[in-house]
Amino acid sequence: MSTTQGMPPESSPPADTARRGRTDHRHRHLERIAEVRAGRGAEKVGYPIHVREAAVVRTAMVGSGLLRVTLGGPGTAGFEAHSPDEHVKFLFPEPDGTLRLPVPDGHMLRWPKPSPTSREYTVRRYDPETGELDVDVALHEGGLGSDWALAARPGDTVHVAGPPGGLIVPHNYDRYLLAGDITALPAIARWLEELPRDAAGWAFIEVAGPDEEIELAAPTGFEVRWLHRGDVPAGASGLLADAVRAVRVPDGERVYAWVAGEAGSIKPLRRWVRDELGLAKADHDITGYWKRGVADFDDDDHEHHDH
Ligand SMILES: Cc1cc2nc3c(=O)[nH]c(=O)nc-3n(C[C@H](O)[C@H](O)[C@H](O)COP(=O)(O)OP(=O)(O)OC[C@H]3O[C@@H](n4cnc5c(N)ncnc54)[C@H](O)[C@@H]3O)c2cc1C
Repeated sequence: MSTTQGMPPESSPPADTARRGRTDHRHRHLERIAEVRAGRGAEKVGYPIHVREAAVVRTAMVGSGLLRVTLGGPGTAGFEAHSPDEHVKFLFPEPDGTLRLPVPDGHMLRWPKPSPTSREYTVRRYDPETGELDVDVALHEGGLGSDWALAARPGDTVHVAGPPGGLIVPHNYDRYLLAGDITALPAIARWLEELPRDAAGWAFIEVAGPDEEIELAAPTGFEVRWLHRGDVPAGASGLLADAVRAVRVPDGERVYAWVAGEAGSIKPLRRWVRDELGLAKADHDITGYWKRGVADFDDDDHEHHDH
């Protein structure tokens, strides 16, 4: 049995719009990205979604906490990357060895039920010239995705679905507040690279220690703060929320806040962003990327069905 999730072919946008409660722009996503970028508030824009078989080209450590897996081969040709926190799903075989893949259906994918075993990773880089696609995987004990990345060798293949879309944020905010743990670091690194060079703001990143810090190409107007949690397990320190809540936004300035990381540790920031910063929905995005003790965690606010 299978179901179609999200946008059916271009011919039926009204029904789809009603079901999703918002307008879908997958049939004109590049125009929509340009419109949102030129506007005053952020919006998640859906892209046409594909599933691809990609080959591992190489792997390399980035700092002591992230393993960069570079994918390529014919399958990654034509991949699209437009926003810093867009993600792909890696699809893994089931315990019995079978691989159940979604099939293309218009601008969307038709997914088997129950959903195949998968994990989500940020698109750290896509180079249209070489077709290379980088994802940076945070290494940790007992993770299917983490173990797969550690074992990955050139020539291995993996199926990759997405990105389903991306959060498009105008570049006219006075300041940007970016915060996360090592799972959010690939997105924060992209944010800092892709913002205009005269952008200003703060970036807070919680890591175990200095060895996990990486080079960041931040605009000069950014204050980058690495927070070291030492021996405290990942996701168990209150460091990130405490540091972020000490930020004081200058009066009258418009700020965009983006936060991701362990669900419990970023929870206090949801209220702070709303009540203390007073940010509207279009001016912030806060997503639990994983949760201590839960495999394949899925944040309710996260639009995974858009795959
Ligand atoms: C939109 C999005 C983008 C993401 N981008 C990235 C990315 O670029 N790089 C990245 O590494 N992760 C990223 N993540 C988080 C990643 O999907 C989760 O950490 C995922 O659980 C990892 O899968 P796993 O198979 O390794 O572990 P699972 O099998 O899911 O979990 C097994 C156990 O490990 C724990 N665990 C999971 N992740 C971690 C961790 N990082 N540190 C310590 N314990 C952990 C779980 O709580 C569970 O107890 C992203 C998540 C989302 C939703």
